[in-house]
Amino acid sequence: MTAAQTKTSFCRFCHTFCGMKVDVVGNQVVAARGDPDNPVSQGYTCLKGRAEPERINHPRSTARLEKAHGLEAG
Ligand code: SF4
Repeated sequence: MTAAQTKTSFCRFCHTFCGMKVDVVGNQVVAARGDPDNPVSQGYTCLKGRAEPERINHPRSTARLEKAHGLEAG
């Protein structure tokens, strides 16, 4: 199994844009947490931000992205 890489990013779910550390394996986000080094949010995220991996990896989300980018199976 490929080791996870940690990327610095931010949550786009609302206008607060909390800083996040995101663990990525291949092209898949597997975990997200607040970035304690972010000067504004200082490690804070709400539940929606921490649940981003579940939302973006949900089959309905990935199906929409695949359709938008012409990657539909079949
Ligand atoms: S973590 Fe919550 S408060 Fe922060 S940007 Fe995302 S949705 Fe907004």
